[in-house]
Parts: sequence; C-alpha cells; structure tokens
Amino acid sequence: MSRIKKFFRNPWVVSIGSGLALLLIDKVSGFNIISQAFKIILIWLKVLQGWLSYKLSLGFFLMVVVICSVIIVVIKILRPKLMKNNPKFLEYTEDLFQGILYQWKYNYKNGKYKIGETVAYCPSCRLRIVHDKCQTCGAIFLLSKKDRQEREALIRHGIAKKYQINEFQVLGN
Ligand SMILES: [Zn+2]
Repeated sequence: MSRIKKFFRNPWVVSIGSGLALLLIDKVSGFNIISQAFKIILIWLKVLQGWLSYKLSLGFFLMVVVICSVIIVVIKILRPKLMKNNPKFLEYTEDLFQGILYQWKYNYKNGKYKIGETVAYCPSCRLRIVHDKCQTCGAIFLLSKKDRQEREALIRHGIAKKYQINEFQVLGN
C-alpha cells in the first residue's frame, strides 16, 4: 500500500477528515444540508470502517470515539463564538411601519440573506393582528391592504439606513 493510500485509510484521518469536511460544507453553504444526527452517524461509521480495515483493538476504537466526541462538543461550543462575524443587521428583526409593529427573520441562501415571513403585531398590546384587528384593544389595522413587497421595501430601507450598507449586496434584488 502506498504511503498516501495508507494515510487516507488511517482511522484518524478518515474520522476527523470527514467530520471537518462536513462542517466545511455547512459553513460554505450556510445551512445544514445534512442533519446533525446523520453527520455524527457518518463519522462513527467512518471510524468503524477504519478500525475494521486496520484490525485495531477495541480500546483504540473507543479512544477514537471518545476523542472525536470531545472534538465535536468543543466545536459545537466554539462555533457560535466563531460565527459572531455575522452581519450586524441580522439583529434588526422588528420595526414599526405605518403604525404596525412588524417582526421578521432572515434566511440565508446562496450567499444572500432573504427576509422571511413578516408577522404583524398591535404596537400597544404586542398581540398578533388577526383579521385586521387587535383582539385585545380592538384597534383596526388595514393589514390586508398591505402586501409583502411593500413590507420588504420598508425593511430593506430600514437596514440600509440603520446599518449604512448597500441592501443589494447583502439581500440581492
Ligand atoms: Zn392592541
């Protein structure tokens, strides 16, 4: 077996390498294409495969499992801290437009952020507006007369104004 082949069949390289590769896929694509559970099972299968091909002792296999578990836990704890370089405007998820309180989320896809579904609330009661009416104070909001595009335009304008960024760069067209 050539040295390179041997290197790639090493259980350490296989397990840690595949784990890092999956994490990288996640980071680059910006969303979980593979669920966490599947990812972990895959890593352990790779470790098992390495173990079988090397006929290593069970003790060694278990050691690899424990060490990999520790690495995964450490990465999980560190990851949110490393992800802190998220753009600041992602904190902007609520604003008052024309007397209606809107809340929204962002979805990240293909390198751009999209404004998710907006939800309208009564600004005084913070109750979700249903059928153009706040069920607590009885205030009327003409929600059905406002469309998604209008709300998005207001949010995008808010982002550009508050964070001094080019909305097209981060949100696309
Ligand atoms: Zn109300």
